[in-house]
Amino acid sequence: MGEVAEIIIGKVNLGLLEGDITRQATEAIVNAANSSLMGGGGVDGAIHRAGGPAILEECRQIVSRIGRLDAGKAVITTGGNLPAKHVIHTVGPVWRGGGRGEAELLASAYRECLQLASDYKLKSLSFPSISTGVYSYPVAEAAKVALSTVIAFLRDVPTSLKEVFFVLYDSGTYRAYSAMLAESAGQM
Ligand code: ADP
Repeated sequence: MGEVAEIIIGKVNLGLLEGDITRQATEAIVNAANSSLMGGGGVDGAIHRAGGPAILEECRQIVSRIGRLDAGKAVITTGGNLPAKHVIHTVGPVWRGGGRGEAELLASAYRECLQLASDYKLKSLSFPSISTGVYSYPVAEAAKVALSTVIAFLRDVPTSLKEVFFVLYDSGTYRAYSAMLAESAGQM
């Protein structure tokens, strides 16, 4: 099976990068947060470390307004000291074997981020691989849900976005996404 690093959907570029999402200069980056919005390990910890306390302060205000953030939902804050102006915080599902609505919750997390970015008229957005770290979602299955959901949104929903990236932290995750993107591109 081949690997693909970029496709074009309508007028939107969808690209895959291997690297650290906190360094990405897209207008927003997505955080794979947990429901408390109070920071954590993995990409969440990296974003709060690199972005500084302004992000956590806004998360606190959001939690005082709406309470915990359910899986599949998303909210937006400042990017603080990050190159990205905004962080979109979403909560992916914890993998419990696949029979507990995980795929639908993961798809919802991606869609809510894309919709928020569109509502804010953003032109560029970067995603990490939501749920495949501490939340243990199998990476090939997560890649399939992530890419098919993003491709369907960009194809079907009017959006300000021009560029969407997946920034994948390790080469195994990158390869899983690029193999899946090759498959998705073949079906378009
Ligand atoms: P979750 O709790 O949703 O599983 P994690 O942060 O544990 O979230 O992991 C999600 C993915 O993010 C994993 O593939 C992990 O390797 C990756 N990751 C960790 N740090 C970074 C980073 N700085 N940039 C991009 N991806 C990262």
